[in-house]
Amino acid sequence: MDEELLTAALEAQQNAYAPYSGFAVGAALLTADGQIITGCNVENASYPLACCAERNAVYRAVAQGHRQFVRILVVGPGPALISPCGGCRQVLAEFGDLDVVMAERTGTQEPKVVPLHDLLPMAFDRKDLSHGV
Ligand SMILES: [Zn+2]
Repeated sequence: MDEELLTAALEAQQNAYAPYSGFAVGAALLTADGQIITGCNVENASYPLACCAERNAVYRAVAQGHRQFVRILVVGPGPALISPCGGCRQVLAEFGDLDVVMAERTGTQEPKVVPLHDLLPMAFDRKDLSHGV
């Protein structure tokens, strides 16, 4: 399954819009019903408006009616394994736990698989909202 996710993520990575950083990222999200939804990073001249590949995959999946995810694979442009940024970890955590697969494009390194709850322990969630007002 990870090979299928890697192929999909690499395909999405080719569409990354990263003219400022040159750091193209691809992500492939596996839904509970077995579909693969991809995303790539999209940058903007107004830098803070950029959106990561992982978040774009989640938002696209949600727009297509998916709410349950089991795995997300992320691949960067270089030989290093990259992990989702803090913001993406938080967005992923909104939909529960899943496995995060950090892969690299050449397949020379074994992908690293880490449960999201290990990447973002004590995530802010809906329970925290009840402690406000
Ligand atoms: Zn991110």
